[in-house]
Parts: sequence; structure tokens; C-alpha cells
Amino acid sequence: AHEGILRRQSLRESAARTYARSLPIVPVRARGLTIEGADGRRYLDCLSGAGTLALGHNHPVVLEAIKKVLASGAPLHVLDLATPVKDAFTTELFATLPRPLADDARIQFCGPAGTDAVEAALKLVRTATGRTGLLAFTGAYHGMTAGALDASGGAADVRVTRLPFPQNYRCPFGVGGERGAELAARWTENLLDDPKGGVPTPAGMILEPVQGEGGVIPAPDGWLRRMRELTAARSIPLIADEVQTGVGRTGAFWAVEHSGIVPDVMVLSKAIGGSLPLAVIVYRADLDVWRPGAHAGTFRGNQLAMAAGAATLAFVRENRLADRAATLGARMLGRLQGLAATHRCVGDVRGRGLMIGVELVRPDMGDPQADVPPADPVLAAAVQRECLRRGLIVELGGRHSGVVRLLPPLTLTDEQAEAVLDRFADSLEAAVR
Ligand code: PMP
Repeated sequence: AHEGILRRQSLRESAARTYARSLPIVPVRARGLTIEGADGRRYLDCLSGAGTLALGHNHPVVLEAIKKVLASGAPLHVLDLATPVKDAFTTELFATLPRPLADDARIQFCGPAGTDAVEAALKLVRTATGRTGLLAFTGAYHGMTAGALDASGGAADVRVTRLPFPQNYRCPFGVGGERGAELAARWTENLLDDPKGGVPTPAGMILEPVQGEGGVIPAPDGWLRRMRELTAARSIPLIADEVQTGVGRTGAFWAVEHSGIVPDVMVLSKAIGGSLPLAVIVYRADLDVWRPGAHAGTFRGNQLAMAAGAATLAFVRENRLADRAATLGARMLGRLQGLAATHRCVGDVRGRGLMIGVELVRPDMGDPQADVPPADPVLAAAVQRECLRRGLIVELGGRHSGVVRLLPPLTLTDEQAEAVLDRFADSLEAAVR
């Protein structure tokens, strides 16, 4: 079955498919961290549905919540009508929001994908401000529809102004740390305040507190606070895209909490649906200038996703899984940093909580611009292959796909974390040999 399914699907599906190209497995069963393929092989899944599975695969509380809705006879498709299931989800979600946003927030169900919610956020701030321009960052990933794509790295929309995202390792100014972040903040400030060469006041700024697809790049807390101050001072709505960073993944329930900033709009998806498709934006009530019908969409009422999502949010909150992600993530980073100390091809190890990236580089080649070796996508792909051979699923990301990404479920046990790291270390060893 395994080979047949793979062969048929690779003939039928567009070559544009992504995960299936680098992960030739046919999942038939899954539980927690583990996926089982049609060939009977078992894998530790550190891709987690691209960061969706906060509680891993088929967590009992998620399955129970779904079964309860199914058994209740509730309608599964209700457009955006009010239901008890939606009420429970919204109540649970609002209880997690940072204050003062939580005190008077509005929610718009978008959906079903993160991209849809990004789109809604961009439209909301453009409608609310009457302005069109947007500030977005290099290396960003917000989605695949026109507006979301334009706000992502390498975009073409002339209305989007691309700004430097501070990085320690590959700092666009050639200096990392606080100094690099300070320069990146000043760059943005100058652009907004320069009456000649600058940009007109934009409709909003969109950023990821930790860039995910961009190669796991945590934004420095001080820089985030500067972005908050400078947007607030100019009445520019700040949109935090927490599609990937949300629901405890980074060691706080929402990643913006690390810096203490409160965005005007939050874009939420992935884990909030407990593995089923769900996407929303939450925002300050005074931005809610939309007229009835201004933003529609058929699939905004997925009852199963809301039930699975509410159960996930509650489980993460009640079991303090964000704190768990912080401690376990720090320990895993520590061990990976040990690998960096003994392997020159490991250029950087970084992350926050259980959102971890290992950047592989060519130490023999200098990068004349940044004085750091260039990323090594060939080695990264080899490590990914070796991981797969050892039953470990990891994902690649970053500008040149040179970053191996680990997004394990927040329910990861200490023993599982050790097993993941053992397999990763062996795979790195095999790939460099
Ligand atoms: N924003 C961020 C930060 C993401 O990581 C992603 C998906 N990786 C998206 C938006 C788009 O979400 P979706 O793929 O569900 O459309």
C-alpha cells in the first residue's frame, strides 16, 4: 500500500507539493509525538502539522471534544451563526488574551486558514485607517494569498515597505545583538519621519514575534517594544501574526507576552483549532469599523474545529504547557548548542520555547557581506533525510532552506526530548560523514 499510494499521489499531485517531496511517508495512524506509516514504520513527528499540533496527534481531550459535538446532534456547518460551541471557544480564547486587549476585544472568524486571517487583518487596518501602505519585514511569512504574500519576504506589492528584521546571526547591518536591533528600529523610524525619502503613514505594521518559516528568528524584546512605541505614537495599528507562535509554543501563551507588548490586532490560526482548520483575528474594539457583510466567507463556523480548539486552549492553560515549553525548550537548545560547539557546520542554534532552529552552514566559505558563512541547504536536506531514516521528522526553513526546524508538541516528555535529540545528533553525524 505504502509504495502504491506514494506512486499514485506523486503522479496526480502537482509538483508544487512541498512536504510530500521531502517526507516520503504515508501516515495511517498517529498518537502524541508518534506517526505510523503504511509500511509499519514509526516516526517521532517534530513537524507537528507545521506547528499546529500543540498537544500532538489525537490527544484524548481533543478527540473527546470532537466526539461530544458529533454525539450531540449539533449542526456541523452553520456559516457564522452563534452556537454554544462557538460561545465556549470564544470565551476560552478571550480568557487567554493579553490585557488590555482582553478587556474589550472583538473577534472576526475568518478562515479556514491562517492566510485568510492575515488577509482579514490587512483589510481591517486599511478600512479602519483609510490608508493603504503596509510595513512588513524581510524574511517574513504570512501566507499565500495575494495580500498575505505581498506582506511576506521578497514581495512585489509597491504598497508594502520592507523593513529589516533584527537578527543576531545574520544581522542585515553586520552587527548582531542589541546594537543591530537598535539600528533596525532607527531605520524604521527614519523612514516614517523622513518627509522626503520616507513613506506616507501606512495602514499598519505586520510582524511575527518569532519568524517561523523565515528560519526561526526570535525578535528581540527591546526591538518589539520599540516597534510598539513607534507605531502607537503615529497611530499605526500593529498586527502580530501569532499563527505559528501562539498557544504556548514559544514558552508564553502568546509570544508577544515575552516583551510585554500588546498589539492592536492578533492573527491566530494553527493550534487554536486543535488540529482542525480554524483562523480568527482578534482586535481592539475601536478598530471594528466594518459594516455588516464587509468580510464574509462560507467556512467560518467549523464546529468541530472550535470544540477541538477550545479543548486545546483549556488544556494548555490548565496544565501550564507554555511554562513547560519554556523549560524543556531551553534544555533542548542547550544540548543543541553543544553540537554547535563541536561541529563547525552548525552555524547557529536558536529558538524560543519549543520553536527551535539549527542553521547549517559552509564554514569553508566566507560571506563577504555579513562575515558569517553561507547557509548550507544541501547539508540541511541531508540531515533531514538522515533524520527520516532514523524515524525523526523535521522541517527545513530559512532564506536558503538551510535551517532545520523542530516544532515538537508541547506535551513532549523528557524522555521523548532526549530521543529526538539523540536521533538528531546521530543524523547530523551521518550527514557530515
Ligand atoms: N502566518 C504565519 C506566521 C505562518 O507560519 C503561516 C503558515 N506557516 C501562515 C501565516 C499561513 O497559514 P496557512 O498556511 O494556514 O494559510
